[in-house]
Amino acid sequence: MLTDYHTHTPLCLHADGLPIDYAAAAVARGLAEIGISDHAPMDGPEPFDEWRMRRADLPRYFEMVAEARALSPIPVRLGLECDFIAGHEAWLDELAGLADWDYLIGSTHYIEPGFDVDSPRHVNRYIRTPHATEEIWTAYWTAFRAMAVSGRFDFLAHPDLPKKFGHRPSGDLRRFYEPAIEAIARAGAALEISTAGLHKPVAELYPSDEFLRLAHAAGIPVVINSDAHDPSEVGRDFDRAVAAARAAGYAEVCRFERRQRVLVPLP
Ligand code: ZN
Ligand code: FE
Ligand code: FE
Ligand code: ZN
Repeated sequence: MLTDYHTHTPLCLHADGLPIDYAAAAVARGLAEIGISDHAPMDGPEPFDEWRMRRADLPRYFEMVAEARALSPIPVRLGLECDFIAGHEAWLDELAGLADWDYLIGSTHYIEPGFDVDSPRHVNRYIRTPHATEEIWTAYWTAFRAMAVSGRFDFLAHPDLPKKFGHRPSGDLRRFYEPAIEAIARAGAALEISTAGLHKPVAELYPSDEFLRLAHAAGIPVVINSDAHDPSEVGRDFDRAVAAARAAGYAEVCRFERRQRVLVPLP
């Protein structure tokens, strides 16, 4: 049986459904566990951006997850999707101490201040110059590597995010993938296979099959998630993710409890 550890709540201002609704959807899909992992608040002046919870909302977040736990027949894990941005490490450490997290997710959305690579607002940047996509990919994977090296996260979300709108540099992409995989392996983190990309313009899983093969060869464990922003998306297309994981050589996925990782067989 599978789990879905990457889901959101209305506190991030762009998702619907309460944790109890995500848990009910997980039960309906036959999942063994559900995990809630909303976009973490940032330090400094708020709002940091328009797509994350505010610091003052954290108590309500814990309360919503506790409500789901009280009613759900399957385990409801407490997580958080954290942006790793250089200079904010102390805040991440503070967040890590605020609760009994089951896992902390590391995500790279920002490749420079104000430029979140997955925002449709910035889609024209990919074609602004002949080298724009190459530059964006270079900046993304540099930031992703720094996140991995920081060693603060249990798993790393949606690798390959800058392919979202279908832009990919030409040539052998291993020049981006290999240094990132080396950093993930050295940090001992797990990697997310996200089915969200199937529903974006690129219409592919994050990461690519090639990335996944390299990750398996490097001994990096994986976790399959939907990145649901609505309960109807829980467990979506997990058959596709299982097939990709198996094709890359995987026979197991991770589960998390209190930041301890265990491996269970793929269904
Ligand atoms: Zn989101
Ligand atoms: Fe994300
Ligand atoms: Fe997410
Ligand atoms: Zn995400």
